[in-house]
Amino acid sequence: MLTWFDNIADFTREIAALEPRRQAGEAFIAEKDTVSGYCVACAGMTTFAVRVGGFYGVNPNLREGLTCRGCGLSNRNRLIFSALQQRAAATPRPDVAMLECLTPLFVALRRKLPQLLGSEYISDAHQSGQVYSYHGHAVRHESITRLSYADASLDLIGHCDVLEHVYEYRAALREMRRVLRSQGEMICTVPFFMHRQEEAVLARPREDGSIEFFGPPEYHGDGLRPEGILTWHHFGWKLLDDAREAGFSDAQIGVDYDLFCGFATNNHPRSEYGLMYPLLLRAIA
Ligand SMILES: [Zn+2]
Repeated sequence: MLTWFDNIADFTREIAALEPRRQAGEAFIAEKDTVSGYCVACAGMTTFAVRVGGFYGVNPNLREGLTCRGCGLSNRNRLIFSALQQRAAATPRPDVAMLECLTPLFVALRRKLPQLLGSEYISDAHQSGQVYSYHGHAVRHESITRLSYADASLDLIGHCDVLEHVYEYRAALREMRRVLRSQGEMICTVPFFMHRQEEAVLARPREDGSIEFFGPPEYHGDGLRPEGILTWHHFGWKLLDDAREAGFSDAQIGVDYDLFCGFATNNHPRSEYGLMYPLLLRAIA
């Protein structure tokens, strides 16, 4: 069950209570190639492929892995699928947009929400709201900092591991608040460093277009960009304040720890910096 937290103290208490089960359960799963469980997207029993999401040393990454053999959704994909589906069900004929459309997650969500809007970010040279040929598909381009959606036109907007790749992420939060109706929600997955308060700035753009790095460059894998995508920030709890400053009335972190549904942590060996619970950010307009 998804539980929402708006402060680090309540969150930390919940996580501490989960820790013995987490360690035993994930050590068991991490040794397997597959485990059985319930897929929220398939709405039935399934087989999860465990070791398909990369590794931290010898530890399989269970956030990107634990992929359902039926629908192809990873742990974190099913987590946001579940939250978006639940939230969409609370509004009659909701207007919902995802900032992706060439993914198994979009396909699975659209089966539940035929009116679902989808887009991809192609490049800064493309115009939001226009349709382009991209990877062999007709794709609507949307930039998260310059959306083409009208003011107060959506009930729900979702995106997956996007914010850390947007240097001007505060502008992105303001833009999503602009397009949401009152009480509408932004729900997203984002790498979240649960013991951090302020975000860590890993790099910043210089005026001449080059990039200043404050450590080893961090690139994340992306199915549409073989070169990967640069990470600017590691977020902590201040991201919730940033969302409120962007005009949202509230912001929370949701955790759904449920090994039967394949909702595990990323299984990162450093519990103080790098371990990520199955969690979502939601900001309420
Ligand atoms: Zn499935």
